[in-house]
Formats: sequence, structure tokens, C-alpha cells
Amino acid sequence: MALYFIDTEKKGDAGHQVHREGCPQLPEKDQLYFVGSFATVKAAYDVSPLIYSPASYCPQCSSTAA
Ligand SMILES: [Zn+2]
Repeated sequence: MALYFIDTEKKGDAGHQVHREGCPQLPEKDQLYFVGSFATVKAAYDVSPLIYSPASYCPQCSSTAA
């Protein structure tokens, strides 16, 4: 399990990016919303659009996710 966060600020066409804890691209804490603790990036991504939409994976941390 890992903790996932979503950027509260839109990043252009990518929308709100979903990050895993420890991602080097993680925004400042005041621009983060805690999504929850999930086993996979996909599980986190399934609920992220319910919080902020549109949402997308962060390319930096999603590629290393199981
Ligand atoms: Zn990231």
C-alpha cells in the first residue's frame, strides 16, 4: 500500500495529477489533497476524478508503480 495525493492545481491538459508519496514532482503541501492509501496506482486513479476532475497520472511516479 502507498499513500496517494492529487494536485489541487490544474496542470494544463493533464488536469489534476495524481502522485504517489515520495514522488520528486510532488507539489507543495498546500497544493496537495490526500486521496488515500491504495495498493495500486489504478485504484488511486479510480477515485481521484471524484475529488478533482479531470485527473491524470503523474508520469514521474506512475511508471514505477506496481
Ligand atoms: Zn508524481
